[in-house]
This record gives sequence, C-alpha cells and structure tokens, in this order.
Amino acid sequence: MTSDGLVTAHLRHVLEDSLADTSGERATDVPQLADADPDLFGIALATLDGHVHAVGDVDVRATLQSLSKPFAYALAVADLGVDEVRRHVDVEPSGEPFDAISISPTTDRPRNPMINAGALAATSLVRGADPDERAERVRALCSGLAGRELDVDEDAAAAELESGQRNRAIAHLLLAHGRLGVDDPEDAVRAYVRQCALLVDVRDLAVMAATLAGGGVNPLTGRRVLETWVVRHVLSVMLTCGMYDAAGDWVATVGLPAKSGISGGLMAAVPAELGVAAWSPRLDPHGRSVRGLAAVRRLSAEMDLHTLHVHRGGRPPVRSSTTLADSPSSRERGPEDAARLARDGHRSLVLALHGDVLFAAAERVVRAVEESQEGLEAVVVDLRAVDEVVPAAARLLRALPRALPGGGRRVFVVDPAGLLDGALSTQGSRDDGAGGDDDGGPVVVGDVDEALAAAEDRVLGRADAPRAQGDAEVDGGAPRP
Ligand code: GLU
Repeated sequence: MTSDGLVTAHLRHVLEDSLADTSGERATDVPQLADADPDLFGIALATLDGHVHAVGDVDVRATLQSLSKPFAYALAVADLGVDEVRRHVDVEPSGEPFDAISISPTTDRPRNPMINAGALAATSLVRGADPDERAERVRALCSGLAGRELDVDEDAAAAELESGQRNRAIAHLLLAHGRLGVDDPEDAVRAYVRQCALLVDVRDLAVMAATLAGGGVNPLTGRRVLETWVVRHVLSVMLTCGMYDAAGDWVATVGLPAKSGISGGLMAAVPAELGVAAWSPRLDPHGRSVRGLAAVRRLSAEMDLHTLHVHRGGRPPVRSSTTLADSPSSRERGPEDAARLARDGHRSLVLALHGDVLFAAAERVVRAVEESQEGLEAVVVDLRAVDEVVPAAARLLRALPRALPGGGRRVFVVDPAGLLDGALSTQGSRDDGAGGDDDGGPVVVGDVDEALAAAEDRVLGRADAPRAQGDAEVDGGAPRP
C-alpha cells in the first residue's frame, strides 16, 4: 500500500474507527442486496478540481437504489420546469418510511421526490416515448454525473420488477390521484427499477455528489450535465428530504444536502467545495447505512462542512475606496485641468471590489454612492479583482447610475472579463421588459486607466468624454433584486 496523503489518511482514520460497528441489517428486497458482503465499507471524497480520495472497498459496485432519486427528479425538473413538476410532487419532508403507500391528504400529492411515491411520479415525468427511453435518459444523466458510462444490473432490475408490489401499489395510487406522467402505472415502475439498478462504486457516488456541489459541472470531465438552477432546486430538496424521516436532525447536525439508498450508499454535496460518499451495506431501521451515516456525520463535523456554518462574518467586498484625487489616471493634463482636478478630484468615488460580488456587495457600492451624493461627479467601480458577479448584484450595479444625477455617463465599470454582462445574460436573471429607462446604464470599459481618465473628464465638465474602444453600454433597467 502506498502511503496516504493527509486527507486520505483522515478518511482512513474515520473508516477504521467505524469498522467495529456491525449493527444494522442488509436490505432483503432483492437477492443482490441480501447477498452483499455486509462487512464491506468504502469512503470517498471528490474535489471540484477533479481529485478523488478514496479508502476501503472502493472498487466494489452496488446498485444505486434511492440514490438515483435526486437525479431522475433533476431530469424531470430540467425537462418540465420546477412548477410543472411540483404540480405532481411536493417538496415537504414526509416523516414517513421511504416506501409508504401514501399521498398527502392536504396537497393530494406525494410529499417529496426522495420517497418512493414522489420518485415514481418524478420518473414518470421524465420525457421519453416509453419506460426504456426514460430509464435510458436517467442512465445517461447519471453517467454524465459520474464521469463514466454506468451499466444497469439487469438481474437486480428484473428481481425488483418481479417483487416490487409496494411500488406497484404506489404507482396505482398516483394514477388515481392524477399525479403520474404516464397512463400505465407499470410503465412508471419499469423505468424506476432500472434507475435503481444502476451500478456504481463509492468513488462514482462522490463524483456525482461533487458534480452537484459544482453546480452541475462534472469535476472529472469538465462537462456541464445539469443547469445551475436545476441543481439548486435538487440540493434544496435533498437537504430537507434526502435522509428520510429524521430531516430536522440531519439539517441541524450534519447540514448537508444528501441522499441514502438501501444498498448502503450515502452521498452528500458540499456546495462549491466537494462531494463525499460512504458505502456499507448494513442499514438502520430507516434504511440508511449505519457506517455510512457515522462517516458522513463525522466528516461534516471534522471538516467543518455544514452548509449553514458562517465561516467569516462578511469580509468587506470593497477592497479600497478612494477618489480621483488619490487615484488619478496617467493622462497628461494641461496646467489648468491639472489645477481643476487637484481642486475637484475628490468629487468622485473609485471603488475597487474583490471576491464574489453577491447582493450585499452591490448594496454596499450603491450605498457608498448614495451617501456621498453631495457634488459627486463621477464613479469608477473596478471589478478587476472580482471572481463572479451574481445576477442580483449585476442588476443593482446596472442601475447604479440612477443613484446620482447625470446618469450612466458618470458611472464607469472596469470589467475586462465581462462579468456584469455575463451575469445579466444568465438564464432567468434578465427582465427584458426592464429596459427603456431614462437613465443609461454604466459605461463598461476594459481598462482601468481609461475609466479613470473618462471619469476625470466628467469632473472637468467634459460631457463629450471619449469612450474607450469597444465600450459596451449596459442598459439601465430597474433593479429587481
Ligand atoms: N429500490 C428501492 C425501493 O424502491 C429503493 C429504496 C431505497 O434505496 O431507499 O424500494
């Protein structure tokens, strides 16, 4: 055995500590589960730059079972949109066993897509001419998430099709309540058992979780397999419903969107960080892997993975706040202009941002402009050290010219990477009806010196300030945070 790196050694430590726990029972639903070696145990952690740390029984494959539910649901949501899918399946924790033959009496829908009732409904909504095509689309998606082609365990699928009377009963109930996307309950069951029979190992599970953690981009292949808005919705449902009955305890103590399956697998996504997975066949009374649960609980605690843990209380998004008097352009000015800039240069703001510009950062910028209104002639917002601008922040920055008299020609955004435009063109972020405002948007330029010089021209009262080459003027619409 080659020696472990520090992170792999940590996983091994967690694995070895849990080996002594032999409590719980294997699932008996189909022979493939009942015959699994109960002592097997593997843990894996996949990073968003595509490295997988794995220890224990990492190469043994088992069926996905309920771990397929978030993915089939994601496909239904991608196909039909959140609203249409929610007409068939709700998103509330159920507090019931995963295979309860039940529909909520208040909403007349299955409570969520992580229990069998909601999962059967979701699978039946996936687009496809027949159950095989629907199942094949789920298989293809899961393969994209794992970064390799996954196979169906045909024996496991056949066995579950034969023994799945509870799922059949649920599918009939769904049909009776108008919550099935197909006319024949058997079609829903047929596609569902195939997705449950997809074969994965614990590394695959960690990579699948990491793909969700990465907003839908597989860290191994670099391919986008799901849109970010779909992932956000699916992770939300996994956070509150993924671990069956004990949802409140799970969120409070582990705090990760996760899913378990009765083959003994458990995966959890740490948004924007990594994916973790554990697999060991013995289950607790809720159908969750005993050792897998212990491992993910421990990793969450020891690696500070709880998604609601506030790691740093709001690092100031504005890295520096100066004026043109302190941050002049390199442009040669005649003695008269130089004297005027020396006198009036302070009637400006030069704000340099860094990191990710979330809504609160844009609010800080707007407030800085609003608070120094008196005599303010020009504003430069420098985004060169910014990694990302979220759409809500971009909308607010686009409306920034409205915060000072004179509008768009007085606000210059230095944005060589086109972050503002990129955020505004993100799906669902743009209100096309919001244009046509009297105020123009900011002048977006690629070069900071160009922006400073243009801002100086404004302070000097030059309305015909030359625009930097290739400037794009962003339309100034109403902010819709
Ligand atoms: N195939 C199983 C069933 O439908 C999946 C259950 C689970 O993994 O929780 O009963």
